[in-house]
Amino acid sequence: MFESSCLCGANRISFEADSILKMRCHCIDCRKFSGSTNTNNLLVPVAGLKVLKGQLKTYTKTVESGNDMTSYFCDQCGSTLYRQSSMSDKAVAVMIGGIDGLEAIENGRPEHELFVRNRPSWMKAIEGSSQEEGHGLPKVKVPEAV
Ligand SMILES: [Zn+2]
Ligand SMILES: [Zn+2]
Repeated sequence: MFESSCLCGANRISFEADSILKMRCHCIDCRKFSGSTNTNNLLVPVAGLKVLKGQLKTYTKTVESGNDMTSYFCDQCGSTLYRQSSMSDKAVAVMIGGIDGLEAIENGRPEHELFVRNRPSWMKAIEGSSQEEGHGLPKVKVPEAV
């Protein structure tokens, strides 16, 4: 179980389940919406997602893979708490920075890096993490209930 909240505190959500996959994404969309070089996120079953406070806004864009990617964000402070791909209605990618508690970051060491072709030369690959040139994901099983 973990909780995630936005910068202003108007939105708070919780997830019952642990992550299925820990990812770092270097795609251009992640760059643009986060304002940083990349995102670090956790793939988590959507079953067990609870809204504790607020109502997140959504923004949907068709991405390179042809899937629609929807961002769930606070309309007051702009923090994106998670994203969902049309590829699966069973899992969401939770932005690690919104998760409360330092241990989320500590335990969130990515196992899989996506779009590494966009990774800047001054950033190293994460040791032991699988490397994917594009949007490929390893096969993971998403529980329907948690
Ligand atoms: Zn906010
Ligand atoms: Zn991305």
